[in-house]
Amino acid sequence: MTTPIAWPDKRSFAFTIFDDPDSQTFEASKAIYGFLQDCGFRTTKGVWPNRATRPPSDHGMTCGDSREYVDWLVHLQGAGFEIALHNATSHTSTRAETLAGLEQFAKYFGCYPESMANHYFCQDTIYWGENRVTGSRRLLYNLLTRGKNRNISYGHDPKHPYFWGDACKEKVKYVRNFAFAHLNTLGACPAMPYHDPLKPYVNYWFASSEGSKVETFLRLVTERNLDQLEEERGACIMYVHFGHRFFDNGAIDQGFRAIMQGIAKRNGWFVPVSTLLDFLLAQKTVSDISEKERARIERRWLLHKARFGTA
Ligand SMILES: [Zn+2]
Repeated sequence: MTTPIAWPDKRSFAFTIFDDPDSQTFEASKAIYGFLQDCGFRTTKGVWPNRATRPPSDHGMTCGDSREYVDWLVHLQGAGFEIALHNATSHTSTRAETLAGLEQFAKYFGCYPESMANHYFCQDTIYWGENRVTGSRRLLYNLLTRGKNRNISYGHDPKHPYFWGDACKEKVKYVRNFAFAHLNTLGACPAMPYHDPLKPYVNYWFASSEGSKVETFLRLVTERNLDQLEEERGACIMYVHFGHRFFDNGAIDQGFRAIMQGIAKRNGWFVPVSTLLDFLLAQKTVSDISEKERARIERRWLLHKARFGTA
C-alpha cells in the first residue's frame, strides 16, 4: 500500500525501533545503543522503573537495580533517544505500585513516558490478551490462543486492584498494540496513531513490525524489504527485544550490524517512536478509528497470529 507522506528534510521513509527491556543486560544495552548512536539512529528504549519486589518474570535490568544504569539511560535520553515504559516492572504491579513507578519514571527522566508497550507477563497491562481485539474477533483470538490469554489483563478495568487506566490516559500518549510481518508498519496500519473509542484509557495506539528476536528481525529487515519501504515512502516501527540474541558472547550480531549500517546509508528519517507518531498525528484531521478500519486491522493481525503465532 502506498503512503504518500512528505517526510521532514526531504527524507524518503522513516525507520525506528521500540525496544522492550526483556532479558537485556547492561552490557548488551551499552554495546547496542553505542552502535545505534554511532550509526545516526535515535530510537526508543522501553524500561521498567521499579525494581522487582516479588519473583520477576524476566532477568532484564530494571531502573531500580542500579544507579549506574539510570545514569546511562539519562545520558542516552540526552543524546536524543526516547525512554519509554514497559509496565512498572516485570511482575504484576498493584495500582499503588504502578502509580509510584510512573512518578519514579518522571523523577529519573524529567517527564512521564510519552509511549509504552505492554509486558506480556504483567496483569496490570492495558487492554492486553483477549482485550487486544473486539467483538467476534475476540472469540477467534481465544480459539487461536486456546484461551490462554483470557483473564490476564486488568490495567484498564476500573473495578480491579491492578487498574491504572486513568493515569495512563492522563500521562501516557501512545501505546503499542498490533505487530505485523510487514516492514512498512504504516502500510499495514495506515490509521496510526489512532484513538479507539472502545478503549478509552489509551489516548493513541500504534502498531509495529515483528522483530522481537534477532532471527525474526533479520527475516523482515532485508535489503529487498527496505527497497520497498523506501519506494512506498513508508514508516517502520520495529518491535524488538535487544536482549534476545542481538548481543551474544560479548558481540553484536553480525547480520544485525550489517543491515543497520546499510539502513543508515539510506535517506531515512531516524527519530524516536513518539517523534514519528507526533509527526503523523499532526497530519490527521480525524484520530478516532472507524469501525471498518478497526475490523480490518484486527482481522489482519489475527491472520498474522494464525500464521506466525507471535506477538
Ligand atoms: Zn516484555
